[in-house]
Amino acid sequence: MAERYEPASMRGATTLRPLSERGALRRSAPFLAVALVAVLLELATVGESASRVVLVAAGLSMLVVPLAAVIVPWERLPAWCEAVPPLGFFVVVALMRQARGGAAAGYTPLVMLPVIWLAMYGSRRQLMIAVAAMTAILVGPMLLVGPPLYPASAWTTTVVSVAVGMFAGPPIQMLVEQSRQRTADVAALGAITRSLTAGSDPRSELCAAARLVTGARFAVIVERDGGDYAATAGSVGLDLQRLRIPAGSSPSATIEAWQSGNRIYVPDVARDPRVSARLVDLTGAVSLLFEPVTRDGRRTAVLVVGFSESRARLPERALYMVELVAAEIAAALDRNELVARMASQARTDPLTGAANRRSWDEELDRELAHAGRTGEPLTVALIDLDRFKAYNDTRGHTAGDELLRELVTALRGELRTGDIVARWGGEEFAIAMPACDLDHGRDIASRLLGVVPGGQTMSIGLTQACIDDTPRSLVGRADRALYAAKGAGRNQVGTLPSPTPVAVPEPEPEPEPEPQDVPERDRVAGPGMLRTDDVPSLG
Ligand code: GH3
Ligand code: MG
Ligand code: MG
Repeated sequence: MAERYEPASMRGATTLRPLSERGALRRSAPFLAVALVAVLLELATVGESASRVVLVAAGLSMLVVPLAAVIVPWERLPAWCEAVPPLGFFVVVALMRQARGGAAAGYTPLVMLPVIWLAMYGSRRQLMIAVAAMTAILVGPMLLVGPPLYPASAWTTTVVSVAVGMFAGPPIQMLVEQSRQRTADVAALGAITRSLTAGSDPRSELCAAARLVTGARFAVIVERDGGDYAATAGSVGLDLQRLRIPAGSSPSATIEAWQSGNRIYVPDVARDPRVSARLVDLTGAVSLLFEPVTRDGRRTAVLVVGFSESRARLPERALYMVELVAAEIAAALDRNELVARMASQARTDPLTGAANRRSWDEELDRELAHAGRTGEPLTVALIDLDRFKAYNDTRGHTAGDELLRELVTALRGELRTGDIVARWGGEEFAIAMPACDLDHGRDIASRLLGVVPGGQTMSIGLTQACIDDTPRSLVGRADRALYAAKGAGRNQVGTLPSPTPVAVPEPEPEPEPEPQDVPERDRVAGPGMLRTDDVPSLG
């Protein structure tokens, strides 16, 4: 199917302003050369005197165009102003013809220059005006002035000239637009490639690319969020928060495109009941394209592209490019998902789903810093299953693994959302409880003793962060408390209060008290203060 191109004026990205953009002089050079030839011809006229009118007109056009290109601040004027100099050139040609013998003058072909200029740099409408002006310049004198300057015999030349301008202009314009659009497409593809390799989330760049290849007003990516459909990226200036479509909304072309997997094009939103009034209100779109984004047969998004003018149909090329952008979006979303999964895996213990040591170290650093900044308490517990080796030996390792998984689920059930449960190693776990002091922590820890699955028990070492704790000193103290709990008979909580808890910051930490035995209690041991060197660390 032959490609059809939209007028440049409809495609902001590829519209060229011939006089205000770089290269204005280069663009006008061929036209200036023709005017120069006219002057030279007049000067070299043998046998008859040069026409002053022609000289002045040609000379002026030679001077005025480059001067206008340089002096007039075109970029501050509306784009259509740049069509004034080429249209003004018709007046020059009319004067030159009149002065040089009317229809018989050799300057008639000059009427093609503005037509060619506007075919190359103007909009479709400007080209039509130029063709009309050319017709007026050629036909007008034939009808209004007539012989002897414009005899009936000149009709053939007149009609042929008009026909050439009329039929040659539009194809030239189409070819120029095609090449300009291809340049824009290559630029868009380059931007897509760069955004995909840059590593960050490329959604916004892909929306920009979709806009560039279609000349649209905006492009938005809609994805599933819970049950709803939410805009996750889009052109600047759109309130993405408000572009949320609750599941089951009707009418919704987005949901229809998502469910059917078929592209939907709405040439005029006012005449199509499938588009919700809200989408039109929020975006101001007049025509809309809904392109489903599919990866391995699974819908992952819908790309919504909106135009501010009604278009009966979109060019094949634009549709092809949108399809390409949609495929890139699918790949990008896939990659985002993979990266998120890998990031989560890198922080999670594969057996139990608890945070792993790397994640624990980072989280503890953060929580300790937060506690230091705010003075909020922070309590840490180390857990070790009692006689777990024996459990493994009697029930088997698979049952042991299952028990570890169930334990993590049970612990989480007793803790708050912000608390951190990490697998410290083997059958040992670490828990950080922000905004929780030692007394409260003791209550929670006693509760945790009661949720160990499989009829098993565990021991807990508990301590509260102090003002000059490092993660190492804090965990070391919890470890000593755990060792004390094990030593005191297992299935209990050993506590080791910090000398200067973060919650009550003091300028000088109190000296560590003398070692003490952990008193036997029903299920909770402590509070006991042990010195570092009294208690060997657990391996
Ligand atoms: P204690 O009360 O002194 O802690 O006795 P224990 O048997 O629990 O202590 P020990 O450290 O000697 O044994 C820990 C056992 O935990 C050894 C190993 O069989 C078991 N274990 C460690 N990691 C895993 C695991 O990933 N899966 C299973 N099933 N068992 C594990
Ligand atoms: Mg152990
Ligand atoms: Mg153990």
